[in-house]
Amino acid sequence: MTAVFQDPIFQDETKAREALEAARWPNGVVCPHCGGVDKIAKVEGKKQSHRPGLFYCGMCSSQFTVTVGTVFERSKVPLTKWWMAAHLFNQGKNGVSAHEIHRTIGVTYKTAWFMMHRLREAMGSAEGLEPMGGAGHTVQADETYYGNSSKRAKHYRKGHSHKSGVIALVNPKTGEARAFAVNKATSKVVTEILRKNVDRKTTLVTDESPLYRKAGYKKHQKVFHTIKEYVNKEGFTTNNVENFFGNFKRGMKGTYRFCGEQHLQRYLNEFAFRYNNRSGLGITDGERTALAMKGIEGKRLTYRPTN
Ligand SMILES: [Zn+2]
Repeated sequence: MTAVFQDPIFQDETKAREALEAARWPNGVVCPHCGGVDKIAKVEGKKQSHRPGLFYCGMCSSQFTVTVGTVFERSKVPLTKWWMAAHLFNQGKNGVSAHEIHRTIGVTYKTAWFMMHRLREAMGSAEGLEPMGGAGHTVQADETYYGNSSKRAKHYRKGHSHKSGVIALVNPKTGEARAFAVNKATSKVVTEILRKNVDRKTTLVTDESPLYRKAGYKKHQKVFHTIKEYVNKEGFTTNNVENFFGNFKRGMKGTYRFCGEQHLQRYLNEFAFRYNNRSGLGITDGERTALAMKGIEGKRLTYRPTN
């Protein structure tokens, strides 16, 4: 095992469970059945029902562990390996391939793939979040196209272009990014995303594309890329959102090669998660890893995993 796995959470199942408890319950244990916090006791001893990390809730008379009803419990993969996978996922900017997880932590490729998708889901999406920005804030918006344009792919797809649109929003002040996979970046699609995600009082910064006009932001700054303008007269740029796209494209090329359109949003969520929790904002690799683990734990199962 490499040096990166020296922390006890990668070695010892009890330590791994305790770390998950700490991530999930930073202010003390909460009963997942009734939300109670007052009458919770550790269950210890050799009873038949005893499992490590078992708690009893006196409010609703039920027992639970930190993993009950979660992907962690059903997957049968030890928590130490989940921590390793989450750690590898959150090192650097580019993510990690299923093949590398498979080789490095010693699970089957299929299990590695399953774990990665759960991690990606755990990293969350922009769905249901409060709008970004507001008075005194800028949000940079831009669109790009992403997809496999290699000759081979074109050959198999009989010349159809299979690029998906991506729209990204970055608030340079808070460092927050959101990214959306769309079939095609039309004015209608862009308008809908902006109105849901960007406060009306925000200064919107885009290039000269007419796509952003219809959304009707009163404070709209444009940077004219067609005339090689990168900072406009008022001092606004779209550099941050372009950097986000740069990270995304480099990461996809280097680590994931290509993902099917049906997975694009998950990968965007993954890159947005790392961007939003990046070291430049004072967040350590360990903290980012714990956030991802906490996120997985929070996902209740809606289907049966195959592992
Ligand atoms: Zn309870």
